[in-house]
Amino acid sequence: MKFASAVLCLSGFFAAWGQQADVRQTPHVIIIGVDGLSVEGVTTAKTPRIHELMARGAWTLEARGVMPTLSSPNWASMITGAGPEQHGITSNGVLLQKMVTLPAVCRDAEGMFPTMFEVLRMQSPASHIAIFHDWPGFADLVEKHAPDVMQHERGADRTTRVAIDYWKQKRPELMFVHLDNVDHTGHEYGWGSHEYNKAVADADGYLGEFVDMLREQGAQDSTYVLVTSDHGGKGREHGKNSLQEIQIPWILVGPGVMPGRVAASVYTFDTAATVAWIFDVNPPDCWIGRPVISVFAPAMTAARNLERHIVQGNCGPQRTSTGIIAWGLPQNGDDASGHPADAARKGQN
Ligand SMILES: [Zn+2]
Repeated sequence: MKFASAVLCLSGFFAAWGQQADVRQTPHVIIIGVDGLSVEGVTTAKTPRIHELMARGAWTLEARGVMPTLSSPNWASMITGAGPEQHGITSNGVLLQKMVTLPAVCRDAEGMFPTMFEVLRMQSPASHIAIFHDWPGFADLVEKHAPDVMQHERGADRTTRVAIDYWKQKRPELMFVHLDNVDHTGHEYGWGSHEYNKAVADADGYLGEFVDMLREQGAQDSTYVLVTSDHGGKGREHGKNSLQEIQIPWILVGPGVMPGRVAASVYTFDTAATVAWIFDVNPPDCWIGRPVISVFAPAMTAARNLERHIVQGNCGPQRTSTGIIAWGLPQNGDDASGHPADAARKGQN
């Protein structure tokens, strides 16, 4: 590299760094997944806290899950940035081996289709990642080594309480919370029933507790909160082909997120891609989800593009269009646990 161009390049880099210091801070993201929360539930039940988030953030009530409209294929799609055609989970089940009906098109160090938790762990090993899930089956969809904590709690109220206490203590960069009370009630009394709407109102209160906690912690303006669901329902079921089952709410608030209805199409697998974009980590090639870029302020996306352009230039390591991770089985020399991220984390602690 010529000296003059190196100086020019570096000066541009540091100018961009200084201007965008707020963007470069490690983001914090809380995803609240309300199992079985239908679009109709959001619009007809008492949901002041969801509407508060919609007023502050970007939202669509026409996001789509995947077929079949069962829990496992849809949670898997949300966290893997891909559909059942790629991750292979096409049915519900307690054990992953029972859920997988197609081989995954790519696999990570644990032999699983890479989730957003694993992608963040691999590319940002020091990240603190936490998962609290009301439905025990959720754990089967996630690599065991990717999160720092993955904990099943019984009941949405308890799950909320434990997750909030954990966030206050540890401030994880990425926390995923799964609440199951709405789906339970839908199966017992029917989607749209009085009891179902009461459960939606309860869930609205739970996610309101996260919002209140962030406000009390002074983190409301610096933390992304994404509220969505895996599927809706019809009658006392879900799993078939109807808009009531496949349409889901998708609501995002956080730094640089512009309030308003999202005009672009949003699919559940875009959630993982959007989280990867927020953390500025590269999605694996086998993902099909796209970050919902249109919700972010143009200045923020422009700064990101500038930063990437500079890093891709003469100043830094090359990023490739295929991502910087080679997804495959552990190689000789990896940590004894068999997971490369463990070795990386040990090196940082
Ligand atoms: Zn479900």
